Amino acid sequence: MVVSMKHGQTAFDHVPNAYETALSQYDRAVKHLSLDENVVEYMRWPRREFTVNFPVRRDNGRIEMFTGYRVHHNTVMGPSKGGIRYSMNVTLDEVRALAMWMTWKCSLVNLPYGGAKGGVLVDPKTLSVREKEGLTRRYASELIPLLSPHSDIPAPDMGTGPQEMAWIMDTYSMTVGYSVPAVVTGKPINIGGSQGRNEATGRGVIICMIEALKRKGLTNPGDISIVVQGFGNVGLHAAAYAYELGYKVLAVSDVEGGVYNPNGLDIPAVRAWAAEHNTPYGYPKGERVSNAELLTLPCDVLIPAAMEGQITEHNAPHLRTKMIVEGANGPTTTGADDIINDRGIQLVPDILANAGGVTVSYFEWVQGLQAFFWDTDEVFRQLERILVKAYDATVHMAEDHGVDMRTAAQMTAIKRVADALLTRGFYP
Ligand code: NAD
Repeated sequence: MVVSMKHGQTAFDHVPNAYETALSQYDRAVKHLSLDENVVEYMRWPRREFTVNFPVRRDNGRIEMFTGYRVHHNTVMGPSKGGIRYSMNVTLDEVRALAMWMTWKCSLVNLPYGGAKGGVLVDPKTLSVREKEGLTRRYASELIPLLSPHSDIPAPDMGTGPQEMAWIMDTYSMTVGYSVPAVVTGKPINIGGSQGRNEATGRGVIICMIEALKRKGLTNPGDISIVVQGFGNVGLHAAAYAYELGYKVLAVSDVEGGVYNPNGLDIPAVRAWAAEHNTPYGYPKGERVSNAELLTLPCDVLIPAAMEGQITEHNAPHLRTKMIVEGANGPTTTGADDIINDRGIQLVPDILANAGGVTVSYFEWVQGLQAFFWDTDEVFRQLERILVKAYDATVHMAEDHGVDMRTAAQMTAIKRVADALLTRGFYP
């Protein structure tokens, strides 16, 4: 399959894009499984790729054209599920990678979903609320042929949140003529969202971190120091939950930069400061650090929770952490994986560590279809049960085959999709 290089890139400075990383992870995992070669080839390909170019009226009256994508990677296990991203880094390759990872993530935590992802090439910070609503509604209406609670169910990702999901749900509902809450997840609670969905991904990251630490005999939170990259939905809630449990969060960052205090940050205070200043960068009770510096700070656990391709062959030799728990999707390149494994740094991979989000999205979808809603305790109890089970399955696969945790997680997920594919058969 052809993978495009970014414009202006040469072979010498080539850093693998997300799709190259996703494909090389896949190739690594299938090598350890004795699967039919037809099945291996089939699962490598995205099923559908949808590109839309659409107009948005800016506040100054001008019409601007935007490009968006929605990719369904594999739908053998059920309707496709995956977030929608608004970012200036969105490319078709990025969306393909994220859709493929969604297939494996849903399979790993045993949800009845295939994998999808969507993205619009836009910097959401440059849009007014009215422009953002216009863009979201028009993109949603372009996606109508794909969407429904039984075919494709979007959710938030980078640059989108509950408000965008509300606009998508409303646009879909207005088109079909009745309210359909189950067409998206990550909605506000007053229109059918689930308790706990906002916190779910970050909380799941910490649940997986605790499982990893427990297996090393490290059970006292006060002894463990954590560094978090990204202070959005995932990073903020991971830092907040870790802090609540008594872990020492030494540093956090967003796209502007980070703040570091070797004695630990007061996360509720950083959060309040960031809400006021739109960034944690510059929080006064800590030292300013760049994102590059933050990744190599000394700590017990590093949580990359911003975006893909952050840990590469260039900075992996300089990491000073004992463990990486991937909150973001694809934050580590395959070359960096090799260095991390050689250095004995434990890595809890993205499709396991950040699966809390899609798991509570699944709960939201189930609650929406049944019109019967759960309380927060029930959501968090079921979340922990599912993640711990997936963690155990990954550890067993790693031990049985003598492979690292990423390869084991992918093998567990890929094997389930392959088995389901063979049971269903190749159509026609
Ligand atoms: P978000 O938009 O809420 O937050 C992203 C954060 O990363 C922001 O603080 C932003 O400033 C920061 N950031 C962006 N570019 C950066 C850069 N180059 N360097 C450092 N920081 C940077 O997004 P999110 O929903 O928290 O998603 C973060 C990651 O987690 C993405 O990889 C996403 O795919 C993944 N993820 C999200 C969810 C979810 O439920 N939201 C679920 C699973 C995985």
